[in-house]
Amino acid sequence: MVKYIFVTGGVLSSVGKGIVTSSIGKMLQARGFKVTAIKIDPYVNVDAGTMNPYMHGEVYVTDDGGETDLDLGWYERFLDLDLRKENNITTGIVYKAVIEKERRGDFLGRCVQIVPHVTNEIKSRIRNVALNAKVDVALTEVGGTVGDIEGLPFLEAIRQMRLEEGYENTLYVHVALVPILDVTKEMKTKPLQHSVNELRRIGIQPDIIVARCSKMIDSEALRKIALFGTIPENAVFCSYNVESIYQVPLILDEQGMGSFICKRLGLPERKPDFENWRKFVDAVINPEYEVKIALVGKYAGLADSYVSMSEALRHGGAACKTKVNIHYIEAETFEKNPNKVQMLKEFDGIFVPYGFGSRGAEGKIMAIKFARENNIPFLGICFGFQLAVVEFARNVCGLEKANSTEIDPNTLHPVIDLMPEQRGIEYKGATMRLGAHKIVIKPNTMAHMLYKSEEIYERHRHRFEVNMDYAEKLEKNGLVFSGRSPDGRRMEILELPSHFFFFATQFHGEFKSRPGKPDPEYYGFVKACLDKKLGKTKPDF
Ligand code: GLN
Repeated sequence: MVKYIFVTGGVLSSVGKGIVTSSIGKMLQARGFKVTAIKIDPYVNVDAGTMNPYMHGEVYVTDDGGETDLDLGWYERFLDLDLRKENNITTGIVYKAVIEKERRGDFLGRCVQIVPHVTNEIKSRIRNVALNAKVDVALTEVGGTVGDIEGLPFLEAIRQMRLEEGYENTLYVHVALVPILDVTKEMKTKPLQHSVNELRRIGIQPDIIVARCSKMIDSEALRKIALFGTIPENAVFCSYNVESIYQVPLILDEQGMGSFICKRLGLPERKPDFENWRKFVDAVINPEYEVKIALVGKYAGLADSYVSMSEALRHGGAACKTKVNIHYIEAETFEKNPNKVQMLKEFDGIFVPYGFGSRGAEGKIMAIKFARENNIPFLGICFGFQLAVVEFARNVCGLEKANSTEIDPNTLHPVIDLMPEQRGIEYKGATMRLGAHKIVIKPNTMAHMLYKSEEIYERHRHRFEVNMDYAEKLEKNGLVFSGRSPDGRRMEILELPSHFFFFATQFHGEFKSRPGKPDPEYYGFVKACLDKKLGKTKPDF
């Protein structure tokens, strides 16, 4: 029998529900239980693919090409799982399915309603994920905050699941903020109490409350939360600020949350094994070295836009005991004031991430040129890969007017162009080249050294690619395409052998990076930054 844990949030969003959900999964995994995690996003979009990362954070891409909420990234990183697009349920998906069923005649004669038709659809989707993944425990996080209009059908669905699955197979966890007042330094539990009341009003009594507070809550706050939440004090836990987010499962487990959950769900109590996790956390919080990396991007004002990338850099850093300090720089800064590009001299590495559209593209090209000419380690991902090709074509191959047709549709030298299968596509949703595809790696290259394999699978999300008409010219001038699609027609990896570390990929290695198992290109980059800083003549992988 599958056990279901539901996580809701109160007071405000971005309170760390995703991390608490991932941490619960980790505590159960550490005890040998098989888990999966589902994210519910009550917005009407069918998926996250059409959303601006500047407003909503990055779009996380799964192996099967799902464009999902970034919380799936936290689940994958914490739990070392490869989830599927079904693990992200949105209002858009649910309504689309219900309406299609109605049009097909599945409900013939009946009036189609939120309860039971929409709620049934939600429940069956949650159950299908759990059953397909054959897990002991399925975690479901309901996005947004209790009290939002959009969230109501989902909360109603999870309320019904207690009746259908049984008390001993379901558990509700409520995560809410406990602010500390500046002046009196008092921990205030009233907003949390209100959010619990809101949850109860719609029929859900939490079994566990997690207070999100900057410090460990004091006994007075704990007592009040338990009293007004109508739960025993040993069912109240606190997720307080820690140096690294990866410590959260450890601090919650120390408070007894893991064993409380097992007892409550009738799971056999086992001693948790956090050995590998602790090793990784130790490497993150006790580094021996430090590197400073400039991330030159378009969404630099919101760190969540690049969360998988910054985490992959951290995983790479932990593998060489290095703290990675990331400085987010708006690419447009260099366009407005070209002299400012000199500031990049201060950095051990330059990183150009994914991106869309022309804003900031020239600034990124300036940063890439600076990295290439000054032999500063460089890593480019997706748009960063494409712009590295544009820069090389312009400044090394003498194709002054080279560009991507995404930036200039009428460029004289379209070194980056729309993929043929993308022409004529009108719908924006889920129409890019998405998900994991095979890449063949050229022997005796840096890529081969990093990946230690001639065949890899990496995740993609793009519409443009290197124009084959220019590949020969680029290679003649010293650029090496060290990874390609199996048919040889798509360029996937580039490197510059004359440079200390100049590496870029059409794919996104960050989506497969895990604590203790860093993605090779991110590890290679951080190690190169460190080795260059330590005065080595070439990176020592
Ligand atoms: N805009 C580029 C493309 O669509 C790059 C996409 C990306 O960086 N993910 O091909």
